Amino acid sequence: MTVIRTAIRVEGIVQGVGFRPFVYSLATGLGLGGLVGNDVDGVFAEVEGPPAAVGEFLRRLAAEAPPLASIERITTSAMTPAGAASFEIVASGPDGRRRTLVAADTATCADCLRELADPADRRYRYPFINCTNCGPRFTIVRDVPYDRPLTTMAGFAMCDLCSAEYHDPADRRYHAQPTCCPACGPRLTLLAAAGHSLPGAGDPLDRAAGLLRDGRIVAVKGLGGYHLAADAACEDAAAELRARKHREDKPFAVLAADLDAARALCAVGDAAATLLTSRARPIVLLPRLRGASVAAATAPGNRDLGIMLPYTPLHHLLIQAVGRPVVLTSGNVSDEPIAYRDEDALSRLAGIADAFLTHDRPIHIRTDDSVTRAFRGRAMPLRRSRGYVPEPVVVPGGFPRPVLACGAELKNTFCLAKERHAFVSHHIGDLENVETLRSFTEGIEHFRRLFDVAPRVVAYDLHPEYLSTKYALDLDGVDLVGVQHHHAHIASCLADNGWPPDGGRVIGVAFDGTGYGADGTLWGGEFLVADYAGFERAGHLAPVPLPGGQAAIRQPWRMTAAYLEAAGLEAEHLDVARRNASQWAAVVSMARKGVNAPLTSSAGRLFDAVAALIGVRGTINYEGQAAIELEQRADPGERGAYRAGLEPVGPDEHASLRRAAGPAAEATAGPAPGPGRPFQVRGADLMRAAAADLAAGVPPAVIAARFHNGVAATVEAACLRLRDSHALTTVALSGGVFQNMLLLTQVVTRLESRGFTVLTHSRVPCNDGGISLGQAAIAAASDRRAPGGQPPDS
Ligand SMILES: [Zn+2]
Ligand SMILES: [Zn+2]
Ligand SMILES: [Zn+2]
Repeated sequence: MTVIRTAIRVEGIVQGVGFRPFVYSLATGLGLGGLVGNDVDGVFAEVEGPPAAVGEFLRRLAAEAPPLASIERITTSAMTPAGAASFEIVASGPDGRRRTLVAADTATCADCLRELADPADRRYRYPFINCTNCGPRFTIVRDVPYDRPLTTMAGFAMCDLCSAEYHDPADRRYHAQPTCCPACGPRLTLLAAAGHSLPGAGDPLDRAAGLLRDGRIVAVKGLGGYHLAADAACEDAAAELRARKHREDKPFAVLAADLDAARALCAVGDAAATLLTSRARPIVLLPRLRGASVAAATAPGNRDLGIMLPYTPLHHLLIQAVGRPVVLTSGNVSDEPIAYRDEDALSRLAGIADAFLTHDRPIHIRTDDSVTRAFRGRAMPLRRSRGYVPEPVVVPGGFPRPVLACGAELKNTFCLAKERHAFVSHHIGDLENVETLRSFTEGIEHFRRLFDVAPRVVAYDLHPEYLSTKYALDLDGVDLVGVQHHHAHIASCLADNGWPPDGGRVIGVAFDGTGYGADGTLWGGEFLVADYAGFERAGHLAPVPLPGGQAAIRQPWRMTAAYLEAAGLEAEHLDVARRNASQWAAVVSMARKGVNAPLTSSAGRLFDAVAALIGVRGTINYEGQAAIELEQRADPGERGAYRAGLEPVGPDEHASLRRAAGPAAEATAGPAPGPGRPFQVRGADLMRAAAADLAAGVPPAVIAARFHNGVAATVEAACLRLRDSHALTTVALSGGVFQNMLLLTQVVTRLESRGFTVLTHSRVPCNDGGISLGQAAIAAASDRRAPGGQPPDS
């Protein structure tokens, strides 16, 4: 009988996910001899036997891999048969280099849920049940290789029963690092706000559920941090939680027991159901049903509700015990980072929570819940964190040298990249206080260790005041690449879609709040002609003053004043002017004279201006609130659309913009303007039309819709113009404004009807949370272009 021996290497997420036992049982089932083991590159195996059986083994290796495995590459080579009769799992190779990938935290699997509910099982109702196919990963890993002593489970010695399972290749818990049971693992406690045990007896979980049913607020220690929980149907509890958290309007997420419970609250389409039940278990934004029994204070002024399903055994048990949906919002005050260390949580949340349902398994790294929604059958991430991080984005063309991209300021993420992998970090948050900055710097160190990336190239945003920029500029011994904010948005969208480095240029529509322009002004309504290597600012919204700078972001009515002024309209008779009468004249004067009123082409500010004009909101309590409520207000049945003119930008003006770009900007400024003069969009036209409708008594819902339709029509017109001038037929949409589903849907529909290929985000957010991926891809292009791998400015 002919016998062959084949060496196999499997790369990807293949450690800590049950891959070796899977290979073991597959090989022994087929009567093959050989071995399997882990090393720094992933899993290696050698199989020996008849050619047909080896062929069958290779086919099933990819097809039947364990659920948490993510195979990127399988390579094989022929060996000389060694006469192996048995198959064995060999000791892991020495840890020379660290290359293998750490898995994301994963929702409790069906097998564990069955045991959790089985009174005969020794882990019946044990809140920390897990196995090789589920449980904590990223949040408990202190270092690599992924082994129990290097996780936050190190302090829990396995009992004999757990140890036997752990060492049995045929067991589901073979080498499941966080495995444990009630005899040897973490335990729940219920504490009073002062950190003492709560008086009274009974199961901490049942008592916490009782408090929630009584309308109390309970802090619950989850996978990546503490949540604050309250009965979602109880108006008083939700309102009290808002008051104590100092969170006025920003929506709370709701934990529902299962898909049926979610369907009682929201319209859940197929794609959304897939997202809700996925292993990542993100918060999914869904249209709320009329009459859904949810307190108004849960998501004021919002048609949508953020729903998530339980993702740990603790959450499963808690929601069953409460018997109805609960609000589950991040454990923090206002916009601070979520608390994740026990002592810190007890002190910071003392004034908010009536009790703490906590446990003794430490969280190594703060990780917020991910937030996503379904768009055209795919995920559209708004915050990519728990459940997704640290799985890498594979970037075509890869990275010639290791890269650190520092991201932006708000919704910061960073990205470490090497070879073909971009490791986009968990959501760090707004880099505006000491604690988020510490998360940022410590997170970078953690990722450097986990993925063994020593960055040689560091990409940063051009904004000189961003803390992420200051961090980058402070680094020694690396090559720095300054990346324009909106170029990074478009590159992020390209990388998200696997766009190859030689894929050519696209039309990039980058609409957001603000980003630092290459000319030092604030951009945000940009039409770029771009690839990874560079961009041309082909068009933009006509700049208007931002009266009072930051104050105009917090007070959208100031933008109404600026736009009315730009449109040459009298405002005295308008409600928005009367409501802000005490400051109106001063703000108009500021805009007129350009004093403390930097120019901006921001699309977000145009949405703000219209929202305040029609009385949606003149002052905001969280980022993007006015635009979000304007979208919610719009009448979906209205087909009318305002029109904004496109006009050429004067040649002198544009030349001066390019000259002002400075050396940092030139690194990514790309080619000289192509055919077709740069244009600007007269946003004031939209304001003029909205003001006329308002004066004519047209309802705000209709005005809001006509405005959205008008912006979409303007994007279409601009893209048609660029198709003619630059012969481009692919459009990439990015920037936080495209979180607006009404706008996004309209823009995509219009562009596709014109024959454009439209790229949108499905792996990283279109908002500033996606910036770091774009920066990394641009740094790689800059590295590829430079002779000898040196960037052009070094
Ligand atoms: Zn499991
Ligand atoms: Zn045990
Ligand atoms: Zn942005």
